[in-house]
Amino acid sequence: MAVDRNRFPFLPERIEGLAEVATNVSWSWKRDARRVFELLDESLWHLTRHNPIAILRRIDPGRLSDCARDPRFLERYDRMMAEYASEQSWQDTWFATEYADLQRERPVAYFCAEFGLHGSIPIYSGGLGVLAGDHCKAASDLGVPLVGVGLFYQKGYFDQKLRLDGWQEDSDEQFDVVNAPLERVYGASREPFLTRLQTNGREVHVGAWRMLVGRVPVYLLDTNLEQNHEDDRDLTSKLYIGGPEVRLKQEWILGVGGVRVLRAMGVDPSAWHANEGHAAFMMVERVREMTVKGVAFDEAVREVRARSIFTTHTPVPAGHDTFTFDDLAQCSGAVWEDLGVSRETFFEIGTHPTEEPGRFHMTVTALRMSKHVNAVSRRHGDVSREIWAPLWPDRAPAAVPIGHITNGVHAATWMAQEISELLDANLGTDWQRRMLDPATWEPVRDLDDATLWQVHGRLKVSLMNFIREEARRRWVRHWKEATHVVGAGTLLSPDVLTIGFARRFATYKRADLIFRDIDRLRALLVNSARPVQIIFAGKAHPADTPGKEVLRSVYGFTRDARLEGRVAFLEDYELHLAHRLVQGVDVWLNLPRVPMEASGTSGMKAALNGVPQLSTLDGWWHEAYEGLNGWAIPPGASRATPDEWDAERLYRLLEEQVVPTFYARDDRGIPTGWVQKMKHALRVAGQQFNARRMVADYVKQSYVPAMHGNGGPDDPPVA
Ligand SMILES: *Cc1c(COP(=O)(O)O)cnc(C)c1O
Repeated sequence: MAVDRNRFPFLPERIEGLAEVATNVSWSWKRDARRVFELLDESLWHLTRHNPIAILRRIDPGRLSDCARDPRFLERYDRMMAEYASEQSWQDTWFATEYADLQRERPVAYFCAEFGLHGSIPIYSGGLGVLAGDHCKAASDLGVPLVGVGLFYQKGYFDQKLRLDGWQEDSDEQFDVVNAPLERVYGASREPFLTRLQTNGREVHVGAWRMLVGRVPVYLLDTNLEQNHEDDRDLTSKLYIGGPEVRLKQEWILGVGGVRVLRAMGVDPSAWHANEGHAAFMMVERVREMTVKGVAFDEAVREVRARSIFTTHTPVPAGHDTFTFDDLAQCSGAVWEDLGVSRETFFEIGTHPTEEPGRFHMTVTALRMSKHVNAVSRRHGDVSREIWAPLWPDRAPAAVPIGHITNGVHAATWMAQEISELLDANLGTDWQRRMLDPATWEPVRDLDDATLWQVHGRLKVSLMNFIREEARRRWVRHWKEATHVVGAGTLLSPDVLTIGFARRFATYKRADLIFRDIDRLRALLVNSARPVQIIFAGKAHPADTPGKEVLRSVYGFTRDARLEGRVAFLEDYELHLAHRLVQGVDVWLNLPRVPMEASGTSGMKAALNGVPQLSTLDGWWHEAYEGLNGWAIPPGASRATPDEWDAERLYRLLEEQVVPTFYARDDRGIPTGWVQKMKHALRVAGQQFNARRMVADYVKQSYVPAMHGNGGPDDPPVA
C-alpha cells in the first residue's frame, strides 16, 4: 500500500509500514503493535490517548529517522509487520478451516447504527456500539467474512461536562478525521459519493468512509457532501440527537443507503445481519431490489427473510423506534409502488398487532423480515419471546421462534496486558488461538495467588494515578472549585476496597440504589479498619431527563462531606476510561431492575481482568453466576418493592461478605478467599463470555444457515 504522504510526510521508507498498521484498528488489540507505537514516543502515546495516527503526525521527524536506523526498534518493527501480513491472509483461520465450502466473496453484511472501536472514533453512545465493535474484532480474529455498515457521525457523540451542581451539559466537538483510521471511498470516476437515494422528495448523495478492523472493513455512510442540499448535509452528523424526523432519515439512509453503497462497491453479501431494529430498512430495500425486477412481493419477502439475521437488544420500550405512517411516507416516498403493494400493506409490515396503532415499528419490521432472530442472553430470550408473542398469535410464548446468543466481549481488547502476560505464563503463549476451547481456561484455577494479587495491585495503582492526572488536567483547564477535584477521586486510595459502577445513566440501571440508606452506606465507607470507596462514571442520554436527574443526585454525593471523599464521579465515560476502570477496581457493581437488562457487558470486561461482579440476577449474570465468581442479589419473593428489597440485599452482601472477604488477609497480606473469586471470575468469563464464542455462535446458529439461504417452517405471517 502506498503511504499517503499528505498525511504522513516524514515517515522514512524503512518503517513506512507504520502508516498501514496505524490505519487499521487491529493495532489496538495487538500487543506487539501497541508496544512499537509506545516505543516511538512514550509521552505522545499517553498524550494522544493511544492514537498511532496522531503520534505519526506529531512526532519529531528526527526521532522517526533515529528509529529507522535503530536495530532494536527495527527488529520489533519487522516482527509487527510479519504479524500484520499474516493477519491480512485468511488462510488457517477458524472460519476457513470449519467452512471451507463457503466463499469469502459472499460475506455477511453487518448493519448497526453505532460502532465503538476506539476512542479516536467516537461514533457510539454505549453498550450497543461497543458490542458491535467487539463483534467485528472477533469476526476478524476468526476469519469470518464480515462487512460492517454504519453511519459516519462527524460530530460524534457528545462530550460530557458536569456543572458544579452535577447537571450534565452536552458539548459536541467535531472529531478529527485526519487523526482517525478512516479513508474516504470514491465512486468509479473519483466522485465522493457512491449512490443516491430519495428522502423527503429530495435526492441525497451518499458517500462512505472505510475503516479497517483487522480483516473486516466497516463502511460508514456520509451525506456531508456539497452535492447535497444544505439541510441534508447534516443528516448523518450526530448520533441519536435531533427529533424523530432526523432519526427516521438516518435510519432510512443506513438501511437503504447501506444496501446501495455495498452494491456500488461490488460487495455481494450472502447474509444480512441487522444488529438492533435501527437497520430494518435494509430488508425493505432488498425486497424492493427484487420486486422492481418482477419478483412477486411475497416471494421476495420469503427470499429476504431466509438470508436475514436480526438481533434484538432491549426489553425497554423506549429502546424501540417507531415512526408515524405520515412521517415514514414523507421520508420514503411511494416506495410501496416499487414493492408492488398498497400503501396499507407496506405499513402493515411494521405494524404491531396490539400496540401503537398508526405507527411503523422498526423492531416489528425486522422480526417479520428475518428468519434468524436472537436475543442477547438466555434470560433475555425468555423475556423477548413473551414480549413479541403477539406477532405469533397461534403460538405459546415458548414456541415463538426467537433464540438467544449471549453477548461476549473481545478479550484482547479488554484484558489488561499484565493479565494477558500472566496467562501466557500459565496457559501457554498460544492461549489466544485456543480461546474457543473451554479447557484452555481451566488452568486459571491454578494461577499463583500472590502473583495474581500483585498484578491486580499494579493495575489498581495505575487507575488511581490516571484518575489523579485527569483531575489535575481538568482543574487546570476548566474547573473552578476544589470540590470538583475531590469529586473526581483525588482522595481515593489504592489500599481501600474499590467498587466500580460505570454505564449509561438509564434509570433502570439504578446508579443511585446504593444511596437509599445514607447512614448505612456511610458506615461502610468510612469504617477506619475496613474502608470502602466507590467510583462512578457514565453519561445520560441527552434527551433522558430522569437519567440526568439520577446522575445529578449521584454527583451530589461525591461532594457530601459525610462520605469523606470516598465517592468519586469520573467525567466523560468512554472507551479509554472504561478500559482503566474495568482493569483497576476490585469489584464491579451492576444493579439493573430485573428483567430490564438484556445482557450488560461491562461486568464481562471486568471479569476478564479477574474483577468479580456483584449484581442482580439479570442479563448475562443470570447465566454466569455460579456462586464462586462473584455475588448475586436474588429476586425477592414479592416484586412489588424491588428497589427496597434489592437495596437491603446489596447492603447485606457488602457488609457480610464482600468487605470481610476483601480484608481477610493471610500472613503475606493476601486475601486468599478474594483471590479465589478473582480466578473464577476470569475463568468463567474467558470460557463463556468472550466475543469469539459469541461470533462462533452467530456463525453456527445464524450466519451459515442464512448464507445457504435456508428459510424454514417458523416463518411468522407477514401481513
Ligand atoms: C461496555 C461499555 C458499555 C456497556 O456497559 P453495560 O454494562 O452493558 O451497561 C457502555 N459504555 C462503554 C464506554 C463501554 O465500554
